[in-house]
Amino acid sequence: MGRRILFLGPPGAGKGTQATMLARALGVPHISTGDMLRAAVATGTELGRKAEAIMAAGDLVPDDLVVAMVAERLAAADAACGYLLDGFPRNVAQADALASKMGDGAPELAMLLDVDEEELVARLLNRAREFGRTDDNEQTIRRRLHVYQEETEPLVGFYPSRGVPVLTVDGIGSIDTVFGRLVLALAQADQE
Ligand code: ADP
Repeated sequence: MGRRILFLGPPGAGKGTQATMLARALGVPHISTGDMLRAAVATGTELGRKAEAIMAAGDLVPDDLVVAMVAERLAAADAACGYLLDGFPRNVAQADALASKMGDGAPELAMLLDVDEEELVARLLNRAREFGRTDDNEQTIRRRLHVYQEETEPLVGFYPSRGVPVLTVDGIGSIDTVFGRLVLALAQADQE
């Protein structure tokens, strides 16, 4: 069994970019619930039809739908050798579901990409202009940040209380600088 890592951090912190790079370096699949849900919306599956308006508003897709989607993905052969989960869990209920479904394959550590709110809003508005993601308008961005603070940030305290360390990494800097910090943080954690 390879690494079983969670990526935590607010919208706009750079999780997708860094998770893609780190998963490749570690040889585990990068599993992004945001990417999976956007693909479901694009292809018009039943899940996609249920998720579309919720995502456009910046709210969380219901736990039962997301948990089922992730459980199915983690049951695929490539995830037997580990995973890097990005965008899941997003609240304590999802974290509990993950722990109980995965047993021995539960996450071993979480990495938190830390970026202040002002920088996040600037990055997300910039991404909106460049890529036209429908959930990147200012009102939805504020909503997503609020949902993150209310629902997801508590996981930063929850995981250590369950014996899963959270490695906090400064997410301000170039892509390569931040990636270097992630690799270093993992290496240091492995030595402890
Ligand atoms: P970001 O990190 O920029 O917020 P994501 O790509 O991770 O974006 O997610 C986009 C949207 O997909 C979220 O705002 C939410 O509506 C939905 N989503 C993604 N993951 C989850 C999840 N684990 N639980 C509920 N909703 C989710």
